[in-house]
Amino acid sequence: MADVSTESAGAGKQVQDALATSEARMHALLAAAVDGIISIDERGLIQLVNPAAERMFGYSAHELIGKNVSLLIPSPYREEHDGYLARYLGTGEKRIIGISREVEGLRKDGTSFPTELSVAEVRTGRERIFLGILRDISERKRTEERLRLVVESTPNAILMVNAEGNIVLVNSQAEKYFGYRREELIGQAVEILVPERFRAKHPDYRESFFTSPSARPMGVGRDLYGRRKDGSEFPVEIGLTPIETREGLLVLSAIVDITERKRAEEVRAQLSRELAEKNKEMENIVYAVSHDLRAPLVNVQGFSRELGATCRMLQGLLARQGALAPDQVTADEAHSLVNKDIPEALGFIQASVAKMDALLSGLLQVSRLGRALLTPARVDMNGLLAEIRETLEYALKQAGATLAIEPLPACWGDAGHLNQVFSNLLDNAVKYLDRARAGRLVVTGRVEDAQAIYVVEDNGIGIAPAHQAKIFEIFHRLEPSVGSGEGLGLTIVQRIVERHGGRVWVESKPAEGSRFHVALPRAPTTRSDQ
Ligand code: ADP
Repeated sequence: MADVSTESAGAGKQVQDALATSEARMHALLAAAVDGIISIDERGLIQLVNPAAERMFGYSAHELIGKNVSLLIPSPYREEHDGYLARYLGTGEKRIIGISREVEGLRKDGTSFPTELSVAEVRTGRERIFLGILRDISERKRTEERLRLVVESTPNAILMVNAEGNIVLVNSQAEKYFGYRREELIGQAVEILVPERFRAKHPDYRESFFTSPSARPMGVGRDLYGRRKDGSEFPVEIGLTPIETREGLLVLSAIVDITERKRAEEVRAQLSRELAEKNKEMENIVYAVSHDLRAPLVNVQGFSRELGATCRMLQGLLARQGALAPDQVTADEAHSLVNKDIPEALGFIQASVAKMDALLSGLLQVSRLGRALLTPARVDMNGLLAEIRETLEYALKQAGATLAIEPLPACWGDAGHLNQVFSNLLDNAVKYLDRARAGRLVVTGRVEDAQAIYVVEDNGIGIAPAHQAKIFEIFHRLEPSVGSGEGLGLTIVQRIVERHGGRVWVESKPAEGSRFHVALPRAPTTRSDQ
């Protein structure tokens, strides 16, 4: 027996030792744990606090043991906590047990911090305790917040899309670009942001990205467009970056709206087209100038040579007159030279010089037009045409013609330059009237979309079809010449109209009349127009 009792006493000692060792291990474990560990009983009273939890909350264990755990929970969660516990004990409804979630902890100094809490329920005999394991996630939260700020503050739209093609994250720039609110985008297929005509192909592109993910620009060689909520589109450039996350592989797309860049490119292309056009025009001008200026020059040359020869003959005659008897002088010859040949040659020289002068001044006028500063404003075309009519009154009377001006819409332009346009057109209309019938000129106008279109119509001699395309060219005149002019009027008209961003064209039938159309930007609508 003694043996047995000694044995059992020995066994008891062993058990005790084992228990002591196990408790010491437990303490060591709790002390070493990085996570905070707090246990509470069914009433919510704290039983155990490990050093990590002490550090986390700024309390020492003995300050906490026996106190209600709600001490560590900030309002308004604190008030709810007792309710949770009571409900769980009553209904078994688990809200937090077995799940880890983010909650706020309250430190002794009154500050709070985010923590990830998981709660385990432990039964020891009849007793039931709850073990809370806490991890301070302030640092993680700060990193997340910093990341969020970076994502939010980039000038690009950012989207994160999962392998199924659903949007999992957007920044505020993406909301602005696409006109959707964040909650309207999250969970949606990314295809809603792709124009309909590209949608069908998009999932294939997406799939091939997920099969061989690498950071790269999207759609190299294709023009990409984003589609806004209202259905409108805008050109974009998209960079794709694969990102490995806990949710699996995601693709981060950074989207840049390149509307402005495209517009700038278009303007540049337009400018270089215009420059090429202007160069061509310059070449034409140079050709026309050298061609047209040569004719009067050749005349000047010819007639001055003739004058030289005439002079030499005159000198000969005079010499002979001195040497020979007076009755041998051909008086008729001398008369003809002085009274006819010389004045005639001089007349041609003067006319050629005058012609050259006119051509040169016309040329100057055209070249000045290209550089003249336009000061656009709303132009009252009724007032402008009334002014022109006054200056035309005499010519109209001379030609026995009438001019009707119908009510005209206002346009946007430089009044001085537009006066020149309509003066030239009406001058021509009078100049090229048909003497065989009563002249009738009409000016009408209408608004069409963003343009004001004016028509200057006459019932004059008209223009042959072959000739119509050329009349706007510099120095181009109808041969044989009808009327007088340098063939500059319409060149100037076209220059001015085009500098206004407008267009001029002609419709004409020989022997019936002509209609010159001038399209100009319409004046912005003001209250007085309504
Ligand atoms: P210009 O009148 O000095 O010859 P323009 O440039 O004004 O030069 O006109 C070029 C040519 O176009 C004219 O020579 C004429 O043949 C033709 N033209 C212009 N306006 C009319 C018109 N209203 N009716 C008929 N022909 C016209």
